[in-house]
Amino acid sequence: MSLPSYLYKCSACERSFTSDDTSGHFSYQASDGFRFPLEQTGGWCYDCDRHVPVEDLRTDGLLKDIESLRQRIPKNVGFFKSLSPSFKHDTKLLTDQLESLERRLDLIKRRSSPPKCLSCGSSEIVVLPAAGRGCYFPGCNGTLHADGEPIQISLVFDHRIYDSEGLLIQVIEDW
Ligand SMILES: [Zn+2]
Ligand SMILES: [Zn+2]
Repeated sequence: MSLPSYLYKCSACERSFTSDDTSGHFSYQASDGFRFPLEQTGGWCYDCDRHVPVEDLRTDGLLKDIESLRQRIPKNVGFFKSLSPSFKHDTKLLTDQLESLERRLDLIKRRSSPPKCLSCGSSEIVVLPAAGRGCYFPGCNGTLHADGEPIQISLVFDHRIYDSEGLLIQVIEDW
């Protein structure tokens, strides 16, 4: 995949960032082998000393998504409708989605360690607010300015698989 990527420079601390510092493809794998999406957000890792993707273990949005999916899964449909392939297909999509979200909620509830940096596994991180044009470096009040034209870079995201405590267990290359 080739995407335009911007290099941003901070007006105050001179650090530079790219627009895909926090991109990637991440999943959890439960002890029974079931895989489901890991929600990531932007953070600062003091060990990596850069802007990184970090685990998002917040539940407010998740609870809402689960509730609305539950309402979308049809109940009490007629016998003939329940046999139709498109109905079965749609219902399966919704129930699979719901299962993923419920597994994620369950993981967060049982979780004993704090959120981790998805790059190095450290918990020495801060989750950053969606940073519009503000610098990502914690405490820096600088603003980010696109530095030059977008560069086309080839993005090949590995699929990175983590256990329920956020420790990397497998990397599938060229996903
Ligand atoms: Zn800065
Ligand atoms: Zn790190």
